[in-house]
Amino acid sequence: MTMKWMEQELQSLAGEALERKLRDSAPVSGRPGYILRDGQELLNLSSNDYLGLAQHPAIIEAMRTALLTEGAGSGASRLVTGNRTPYRELEDALADWQQCGAALVAANGYMANTGVISALVGRGDVVFSDRLNHASIVDGVALSRAEHARYRHNDMEHLRHLLHKHRGARRKLIVTDTIFSMDGDQALLHELVQLKGQHGAMLMVDEAHSGGIYGGNGEGLCHSLGIHSDIDIHMGTFSKAFGLYGAYVCGSETLVRWLVNRARPFIYSTALPPSILAGISQSLEIVRSESDRRRLLLAASRKFRTMLRDGGFQTSDGDSPIVPVIVGDNAAALRFSAELQEAGIAAVAIRPPTVPEGTARIRFSLSAVHTERELEQAASCIRSIGLKLGVLPL
Ligand code: PMP
Repeated sequence: MTMKWMEQELQSLAGEALERKLRDSAPVSGRPGYILRDGQELLNLSSNDYLGLAQHPAIIEAMRTALLTEGAGSGASRLVTGNRTPYRELEDALADWQQCGAALVAANGYMANTGVISALVGRGDVVFSDRLNHASIVDGVALSRAEHARYRHNDMEHLRHLLHKHRGARRKLIVTDTIFSMDGDQALLHELVQLKGQHGAMLMVDEAHSGGIYGGNGEGLCHSLGIHSDIDIHMGTFSKAFGLYGAYVCGSETLVRWLVNRARPFIYSTALPPSILAGISQSLEIVRSESDRRRLLLAASRKFRTMLRDGGFQTSDGDSPIVPVIVGDNAAALRFSAELQEAGIAAVAIRPPTVPEGTARIRFSLSAVHTERELEQAASCIRSIGLKLGVLPL
């Protein structure tokens, strides 16, 4: 049997509590912040719908209208005949929102990162990338064939050393998540801007977990820190705070012209359905104008961190909606997640290779729609399970 190896490999993954399995779930009508799984309504602490927009009636209505006028699919890639009017309107609005020369919409964040990185660098170039950057960045570097110089997480001395070591490279690109997806902590963006200037490198940021959440109009962390004009390539997703799907890349007009000519996922893949674009445009308006959602989310994130710490857990600093609790052992993380489900909470166990060996964890993701009471009850339940499983000392 030529495929027998697969069954064997899967068995060994299962033996190490590392096999991943798909599980059905559905939204709960009229109860944002909850999810239906195995017939049970669970408080959803496992979604990236940070601002609670995935069920927003105005977004759904905009999508329905576009579906009726523009049809289901776009029919071709954008360079062929898929470039529908909603693209131009959305990209103009995105460039205005990000205060950049131009914007380009991508099918999703994964394709944005792989497409942009492989369009910017190639053989003879070096990408300097934080060790905890998202897998789509890692894959983009592999696809580009540039040398991958990974620096220890947020270790600026290590990065400085690598930049010096590769000072002769043709092009240099520093790339970082702004909020790290499995830890919820922030990149040292001021320092990265400084190093980029000193070493003549391009700087790309992935605002997947900060777009819509930080900044006066939800522009992201770089805007809230006042350094957006020092960033060469801004990338973010519509799959998280925007409650939808798709991604953006913002920068100079030249950058966007270059990507239209060189980003292979953009050139060789079918354009997003027009209804998605209409939904994103509506979502962007809400993200820009409804700052209360951001305020509530950030306050809840700070409070939830404090509650977990008071309960004896260690977690990352800051106010991002990603709050990890490190368990260590893979099987223990799975058990923790199963106990949470028993108690009415959906929260995923994140295991290697998504996170380094020995750092399996529960990643709690918060949403602006969660109430203080719900989070208090969740924190108390998490503590009880932590004690029961010996994750917390008695
Ligand atoms: N970058 C980061 C930091 C992410 O967390 C993710 C999503 N998990 C992506 C990129 C990919 O985005 P998408 O889900 O839109 O493909």
